[in-house]
Amino acid sequence: MLLNALFVGRVMCIMNDEIQQLFDDQLASWELAATNYAALSQVKTKVFDVGGYTYKVQFNPARIISSAAEVDAQSIRERKCFLCAANRPPEQKGILYNGRYEILVNPYPIFPRHLTIPALVHTPQLIIDHFGAMLDLAQQMSDYVIFYNGPKCGASAPDHFHFQAGSKGFLPLEIDPDPEFPRTILYATDSRQLAIDRFQYVYGKMSLHSDDVEPKMNVLVWFEAGLWMVGVVLRRKHRPACYYAEGDANILISPAAVDMGGVFITPLAKDFEKITVDDIMAILDEV
Ligand SMILES: [Zn+2]
Repeated sequence: MLLNALFVGRVMCIMNDEIQQLFDDQLASWELAATNYAALSQVKTKVFDVGGYTYKVQFNPARIISSAAEVDAQSIRERKCFLCAANRPPEQKGILYNGRYEILVNPYPIFPRHLTIPALVHTPQLIIDHFGAMLDLAQQMSDYVIFYNGPKCGASAPDHFHFQAGSKGFLPLEIDPDPEFPRTILYATDSRQLAIDRFQYVYGKMSLHSDDVEPKMNVLVWFEAGLWMVGVVLRRKHRPACYYAEGDANILISPAAVDMGGVFITPLAKDFEKITVDDIMAILDEV
């Protein structure tokens, strides 16, 4: 038991260190990533109190690529998958994980350190067979929150399975993990099996909307003081009505795990300037 704990502790350090090394290498050799991480330090943020909970709004122009991604079946068919190794920028390097995933620096960051973790194989975005791996990643990448966006809940590549990870100390849900956090089922356990059982229970209880392949959800997992923290956000809609609205009513926001975890991303200045507490509440209620 002690040996096992020592082993896991050692693996955790190695993973965090190895990823930090990857960041250092990529920011030194990949101009797109270096530019976008440098821009992140200049990014504007507003803080709101939404019903007693902190929500931040981040003005992040580089995220337009994800927020406005066309994710309908035809658009997906007609584009090259940017998570398949063959189509990635030559500068992008990765760390192989368990022979099944690759850990990559996300060149369009929201977090001070932001990773994309695609499966090696081009398989659809479906969480159920990957949840155990998500727990293992969270434990071994203990400096990070691991998160998952369902195929119709913010994933910009619904055809290629992937997690993302972001540095701790950024998302309000992780900073202050309150079980009452809006629209989220949050639980903590030191048992990997119990974490899986509870997730499967919630998954089984969620309704499946017509032409969906899995219940609509965002999932966030992190490991803290020997406990897995699991947040499951139950979703009704992919994008709110304001995303499609014309004129002044338009707010280009496409909520995903990060937004539901307390950081709304607005790629357009007009939306960052005008967004109010009421808008945030309305979007949370709607999606
Ligand atoms: Zn792919």
